[in-house]
Amino acid sequence: MTGIVVKSTGSWYLVRETATGVLHRCRLRGKFKHQGLKVSNPLAVGDQVDFTVEEQTEGAGVIHHIEPRRNYIIRRSVHKSEHAHIVAANLDLALLVVTLVSPATSFGFIDRFLVTAEAYQIPVRLIFNKVDLYDEELAGYQEQILKMYRRTGYEGLRCSAHTGEGLAEIDALLEGKVTLLSGHSGVGKSTLINALVPDLDIKTAEISQFSDKGVHTTTFAEMLEVRPGTYIIDTPGIKELGLVDIPAAELAHYFPEMRALLNQCRYHNCQHIHEPDCAVREAVDKGKIALPRYDSYLSMLAGQDNRH
Ligand code: GDP
Ligand code: ZN
Repeated sequence: MTGIVVKSTGSWYLVRETATGVLHRCRLRGKFKHQGLKVSNPLAVGDQVDFTVEEQTEGAGVIHHIEPRRNYIIRRSVHKSEHAHIVAANLDLALLVVTLVSPATSFGFIDRFLVTAEAYQIPVRLIFNKVDLYDEELAGYQEQILKMYRRTGYEGLRCSAHTGEGLAEIDALLEGKVTLLSGHSGVGKSTLINALVPDLDIKTAEISQFSDKGVHTTTFAEMLEVRPGTYIIDTPGIKELGLVDIPAAELAHYFPEMRALLNQCRYHNCQHIHEPDCAVREAVDKGKIALPRYDSYLSMLAGQDNRH
């Protein structure tokens, strides 16, 4: 049978059978090697697997094959000696929920997320939540930011988890995809998930009934079914994507509006700071590259981005 991992505890996995939607508690048999980076977990939420269920042990399955991942996001360990942890795999889309007030999301945070998503090759849409709190001035400002990102190639939309504005559009974006929902704490992710996932309480209860009582289990991510074929991945406690190591010389490649100009700089190893005949600086001066984006580039380059 084929299925998708919807929850992982490290010792066992909850797999949703593709054909029926039934949940199976499975273990992994055999050794599985992850290509590339050394990671601590062989399987993550979003992994597509082949598994068999042994009839006599009700609900217990064995995973014997993991499909190659299209992409995955990782979380680096705080302890350098430990391996990185795969948070989720096979994402079609990431929604970054941002707010301009209570709390205000910084450009630095948004751009770091976008750069990381570029590196992971996951498309991103910006979701401006809490628009019910905006006055006219703030609404105008939000429109400007939206336009700035749209010019850069990132679409976005406004919504309010409270009034329901924009939720139908978000729901349409999710259709047929596995979507990661991300953002600072307090921006309204949980409220949005409640609004987007029907019968969330029942589904959460259904998933948690598989938990080992009294056994400590760590979960980093959970896949929630909006409807068959359409899923949201929630990563409670993770406020940003684990940064991949991007060498300074490559950083500009992950800013789409800079990427197009890179072969026009005089020096092939131009870092676009003070070098003469720098096409990126010229574009900034002419207003073709937005200043906040360039500032984000500079602070990421300097590694001084304040992480909040
Ligand atoms: P999370 O930390 O991202 O999961 O944020 P929560 O969903 O817990 O929301 C944080 C707070 O913002 C709660 O008090 C919500 O009621 C509130 N909130 C969420 N969405 C909206 C919204 O669209 N408008 C307003 N005014 N408040 C919201
Ligand atoms: Zn340059």
